Amino acid sequence: MTNEDEKVIPVRVALRCRPLVPKEINEGCQSCLTFVPGEPQVFVLTLHPTAEQEEVFSTAVSPLLSGLFKGYHATVLAYGQTGSGKTFSMGGTYTTAQENEPSVGVIPRVIRCIFAEKEQRTDCEFCLAVSYLEIYNEEILDLLCSPKDKPAISIREDPKEGIKIVGLTEKQVFSAPEMVSCLELGNSARTVGSTAMNAASSRSHAIFTITLEQRRGTDKADSVVSKLHLVDLAGSERQKKTKAEGDRLKEGISINRGLLSLGNVISALGDESKKNTFVPYRDSKLTRLLQDSLGGNSHTLMIACISPADSNMEETINTLRYADRAR
Ligand code: ADP
Ligand code: MG
Repeated sequence: MTNEDEKVIPVRVALRCRPLVPKEINEGCQSCLTFVPGEPQVFVLTLHPTAEQEEVFSTAVSPLLSGLFKGYHATVLAYGQTGSGKTFSMGGTYTTAQENEPSVGVIPRVIRCIFAEKEQRTDCEFCLAVSYLEIYNEEILDLLCSPKDKPAISIREDPKEGIKIVGLTEKQVFSAPEMVSCLELGNSARTVGSTAMNAASSRSHAIFTITLEQRRGTDKADSVVSKLHLVDLAGSERQKKTKAEGDRLKEGISINRGLLSLGNVISALGDESKKNTFVPYRDSKLTRLLQDSLGGNSHTLMIACISPADSNMEETINTLRYADRAR
């Protein structure tokens, strides 16, 4: 890595436009976006509609993994309206049956890559653990634990270890298939609600966290712990479009609270003139939880997902604005 690469960029943004989906084509939607491939934009990477999952991974995500092995925390956030390709990009519906398909998303690729790197490195001992949670109505739900024996979950800040989520299952894993089965388990447990916009849309933020502990000697004090959060954010669409009512509306409000404070945190981090000002991490569970992995020495990538359809233009513009604030 050169010095240039080491320069701390609080948040990188990769803009990902999915192709028109069959439903949009049937409805007669046209693409309202044009792309200039390779257009040089500072810190913004625009991924063409035909970009493969492999390309998203190798251009945008894989640099964060090298940082992780150097001891830096990292966060990947998939942002965008419902149906824009967040879950597809992250691999949030992954099952082992898809193992060799090119459509596999970020998380399964990350898992593969981390274990491959671990095999290569004989200079130290690695310990890997995983947790998978969902934030729904400002409440934290453990996706790796059956509902009946769910303990109360709370967020604490440890002066040495940073943000700790008390009561959350943290499963130690020794192989890639073992970590993949945690992903599959959590994916099947995710809360989904239907809205007029997307029958199986997710109204929650899902966070898959991989903790990597590297130890050189036998002394525990010698160990370096780094965390990678892989986040499939809730849909960013305005409520009126989803005909939200009652519970749905209440959900909508708290979902927006997370996205709103995330936007505020990210823009406070990215603004040079606000360098030493207060960063409002405590405004939502989402930002509180990601506190030690956003800003500071951590690396953050936002995959801003957009639909090319003209019917989604308004939300696409909103996502572009949000992404622009972030970079
Ligand atoms: P979100 O999680 O943002 O609500 P999804 O990931 O569920 O959206 O994507 C909506 C639909 O679009 C799904 O049918 C998905 O398979 C399809 N899709 C999303 N991104 C792509 C892509 N890059 N290439 C092909 N299909 C995609
Ligand atoms: Mg989704």
